[in-house]
Amino acid sequence: IIARIPASTHRINRSLISKAAIKTTEGLQKAGFEAFIVGGAVRDLLLKKRPKDFDVATNATPEQVNRIFRRSRIIGRRFRLVHVMFGDETIEVSTFRGHHLSEEGDAKVADSGRILRDNVFGSQEEDAVRRDFTANALYYDPASEDVLDFHEGVSDIQAGILRMIGDPETRYREDPVRMLRAVRLSAKLGLKLDPATERPISELADLLHDVPPSRLFDEMLKLFLSGHALESVNALRQHGLQHGLLPLLDVVLEQPLGERFVTLALKNTDDRVLAEKPVSPSFLFATLLWHEVLLAWKQYEKQGNKAIPALYMAMDEVSDIQAEKMAINKRYSATMREIWSLQPRFENRAGKRPYSLLENPRYRAAYDFLLLRCESGELPAELGQWWTDFANADGEKRQSMLQPDT
Ligand code: ATP
Ligand code: MG
Repeated sequence: IIARIPASTHRINRSLISKAAIKTTEGLQKAGFEAFIVGGAVRDLLLKKRPKDFDVATNATPEQVNRIFRRSRIIGRRFRLVHVMFGDETIEVSTFRGHHLSEEGDAKVADSGRILRDNVFGSQEEDAVRRDFTANALYYDPASEDVLDFHEGVSDIQAGILRMIGDPETRYREDPVRMLRAVRLSAKLGLKLDPATERPISELADLLHDVPPSRLFDEMLKLFLSGHALESVNALRQHGLQHGLLPLLDVVLEQPLGERFVTLALKNTDDRVLAEKPVSPSFLFATLLWHEVLLAWKQYEKQGNKAIPALYMAMDEVSDIQAEKMAINKRYSATMREIWSLQPRFENRAGKRPYSLLENPRYRAAYDFLLLRCESGELPAELGQWWTDFANADGEKRQSMLQPDT
C-alpha cells in the first residue's frame, strides 16, 4: 500500500529545499532514472524544520550516478554511496537497497539477529522497508512535488509519533543502534515514541555492547550535538541505555555533584547549538568524564602519589575504560586530556605561573571548564571569579592580585 501525497496536502515549503538536492534529482531523472529526496530531510520538511543535510535515493547504480555528475565520487565499502558536490554542499546519493536475507547470499545475520552485511540493491519498496522509522521512509520528488509514503509516515508525523517499521524487537536485534536513534530522534524532533516501539528497548539495552565502539561514538556525537543533549541523556537513562555507552557517566550521574556538573555542561552545549554557536566535542567529553577522573585522581593520591602524576594516572585509567565501550576519536581525546591536565594549574595564583597559564593555547577551554566546576559547586566560586578578574585586569592590577609565593 502506497500513498502518493500531493503538495496541496503536505504543504512542504520549497524554499527550505537545497538547490543542490534538486539539481541532483533533476540530473538523475534527465538521464532516465528515478530519484527522490529521502529520509531525515523529508521528515524535517514535513515538520517545517530546515533539514541540515539532504540524501537522495535512486534506482541508478553508484557507477551510473558517478558518470552523470562531473563532481562526484563513490565512497564506502560496506554501503557504496556517491557524494555529489555542488559548491560547498555535498549530496549523498544511495541506490535503493533491499535486504534479501540468505536468498542472494549477500546479507549476513549473527546469532543475536544483528545484520552484519546488507549491501544488495533492491526496489524502492524494499528500500523503504529497511529504513528504521515510518517518518524516515518518505520519498519526495521535487519534479512532481509528491511525497511517496509506504508506511503511513505522514500520518505518524502529523500525530507526533515516531514508529518503527515492522516488528520493533526484530529491528533492534538487526541493528541495536536503532535504539539510540529512537531516543535521539524523539527528543530532537519532539515526537513521542509509539508504545510498541518503546517497549522492547530497556530489555534489549545490552545488545549495544556488541556494536563497534567507533559507530557508537558517531551516534553519541550526533546525540550530544543535537541541541537536545540534556533531554536525550535523560531519556537514555530512563531506558537504561546509558550503561553500555558511558558506563562511567552512569556512576557520575548518581552522585549529586557529578549530576549537577554534567547537567550544566549539557545545558550549556544545547544553548550553544540552538544559538548556532560552535561547540567543541573535546570539551563536552571532558565534562562527561571529569568526575570519574576526579574520583580516580583522589584515589591515586591516597595511595601516596604526588598530585600531578596522580592526575595523569587517573586520566589514563578513565580514557582506557571509556575506549572499550565507546571509542572517543583521537582528534578529540588529545584536547580532552589537555583540558583536564590544566585544571590543577588554576589553583596556583602566585609568581609567574598565572601569566604562563593565560598564554597556554588551551587556556580558554580550560577556563570555561573551571567555571563549570565552580558553578556546579565542586570548587569555590571565588576561584573562578579570580581568574575572570585576572584575565581582564591590566598589568598593575594583575600584579596586585597575585598571592604571596610560598
Ligand atoms: P538526522 O536528522 O539526525 O540526520 P536522519 O534520520 O537523517 O537523522 P541519518 O543517519 O542521516 O539520520 O540517516 C538517513 C536515513 O537513513 C534515515 O532517515 C533512515 O531512513 C535511514 N537510516 C539511518 N540509520 C538507519 C538504521 N540504523 N536502520 C535503518 N535505517 C536507517
Ligand atoms: Mg540525515
